[in-house]
Amino acid sequence: MQILVIEDEQKVARALRQGLEGEHYHVEVAESGEDGFFRALSGSFDVIILDLMLPGRSGLEILTTLRRQGHRTPVLVLTAKDAVQDRVVGLDSGADDYLVKPFAFAELLARLRALLRRGRPVEALRLRVDDLEMDLASRKAARAGEPIELTAREFDLLEYLLRHEGEIVSREMLTREVWKEPSRGTPLDNVIDVHIARVRKKVDTDGRAKLIHTVRGVGFLVKQGEP
Ligand code: CA
Repeated sequence: MQILVIEDEQKVARALRQGLEGEHYHVEVAESGEDGFFRALSGSFDVIILDLMLPGRSGLEILTTLRRQGHRTPVLVLTAKDAVQDRVVGLDSGADDYLVKPFAFAELLARLRALLRRGRPVEALRLRVDDLEMDLASRKAARAGEPIELTAREFDLLEYLLRHEGEIVSREMLTREVWKEPSRGTPLDNVIDVHIARVRKKVDTDGRAKLIHTVRGVGFLVKQGEP
């Protein structure tokens, strides 16, 4: 498997190369948008990891041009913390998935495996469990077709739970991947619990199968409702 990493931050680029080579991927790194773009044009990669903030030719320009020229290589976009708008634009421009920096390497691997499994890019990124649907490009959620109003954080939280459907998600994971904090603490645990309660109230409304479950002392779990 050939992966092209387009990332100007040397520390991140080096960590990605080491980590991915450790997983037996073949990795090429481009440290500028220009270099990355011309390498990407060769079309010989299975996945491209693309940082959006690049000097010279921006990640978005690269992505748009590649797609316009008909290149369908799956692209995983890296965006800065809180740059929600970036993700939306990135997905609209033809990215297949995105990760917010800083991210855990294990999460990156999981996303890459999913992209490689999928083989070819899909039009828009959607998550679905039971009758709950999330459209990641437009940042909209709905249950049985009824729109659910979510704050940005609630959306991120629900998205993370859906991506890990059937797996127990710990508060530790939510701390790192949704709140982007390095370590857990009681105040943040309380914040997480409050958000879970709010999201649950919006998603698991009366009369609908329960999708968000609490696993006492461990964390949370989203799974298909019982019929
Ligand atoms: Ca950058």
